Amino acid sequence: MASDYAVKTVGLTKKYGDKVAVDGVDLLIPRGVAFGYLGPNGAGKTTLIRMLLGLTRATEGEMYLLGEKVPEHSSTALSKVGAIIEEPRFHGYMTAFENLKIAAAVRGPEAEERISSSLERVGLTDRANSKVSSYSLGMRQRLGIARCLLNDPELLVLDEPMNGLDPAGIMEFRYLIRSFVDEGRTVVISSHLLDEIEKTCDAISIVDRGKIVKQGMLEDLSGGYSGAVEVEVDDESMAVDVLSRMSGVGSVEVVAPKLLKFELKSGATAATANTELVRAGIQVERLTPLKKSLEDEFLSITSNLGIR
Ligand code: ATP
Repeated sequence: MASDYAVKTVGLTKKYGDKVAVDGVDLLIPRGVAFGYLGPNGAGKTTLIRMLLGLTRATEGEMYLLGEKVPEHSSTALSKVGAIIEEPRFHGYMTAFENLKIAAAVRGPEAEERISSSLERVGLTDRANSKVSSYSLGMRQRLGIARCLLNDPELLVLDEPMNGLDPAGIMEFRYLIRSFVDEGRTVVISSHLLDEIEKTCDAISIVDRGKIVKQGMLEDLSGGYSGAVEVEVDDESMAVDVLSRMSGVGSVEVVAPKLLKFELKSGATAATANTELVRAGIQVERLTPLKKSLEDEFLSITSNLGIR
């Protein structure tokens, strides 16, 4: 049922003339997760978000937000959604508090009561009376989140929220997103930053040229074994000799003192490598088959499609 999902789309398509920006997308975003919509620039991420929020019309397909069919029931659905598309915009000559006061005025008295707590939540209480023109990008992003919180949203949709943030800003953002999920909200993040999605999200869709090419829980997508093995030994040069002579082993690399990484050829096992090392009198402290990172997965998918 659609209401099990924060977002559901069926065959969603958007064409600009001959250009297909979003191409038959069947998206399922479960409730209560941080969800990454991951794809290279131009993959159609912003266009999909704009359709969900009623900012542009779909050419074909169906969309549901929090169980409500949109755009038919957009006003009901959007009253429970907070969104930032591209950079959040504010009146620079006004203070953060004044900006939120204006935003709250159109949302109703409950929103007005949430202004102070929203500013506090994003760590801007001390700067609430400073003009927004004096804010850094990271602070404006956080003020954007505070504005989203005015209607106590069940779903937050953030388009490329980490763009332009410094490492400290990225960490703050990640922490905020996780805290929203802990409260039972759903957070959808569109991004081309693999690393950030991997560190922040529970589930993802990988999108390319308007199409979803992979979708699922992160642990399932990045969980396969890569074929590489890490091994900790007492004598790395002896271990390199032994491993290099094995027909089932490809490249061998010393990554740190006493720590090696080697590639297994297909059909070979880490157990055989372990046996050979021990037989040669080498002490093996630890031997770990390495899992694929999301980056490996992403690159293999996009290169299979002939991209970059
Ligand atoms: P980015 O992060 O670079 O914005 P994106 O994944 O969000 O990438 P979109 O902005 O949704 O991608 O764009 C998808 C495709 O649709 C692109 O090829 C873009 O040029 C095209 N497109 C987007 N908006 C329009 C428009 N208003 N008119 C014509 N083409 C458009």
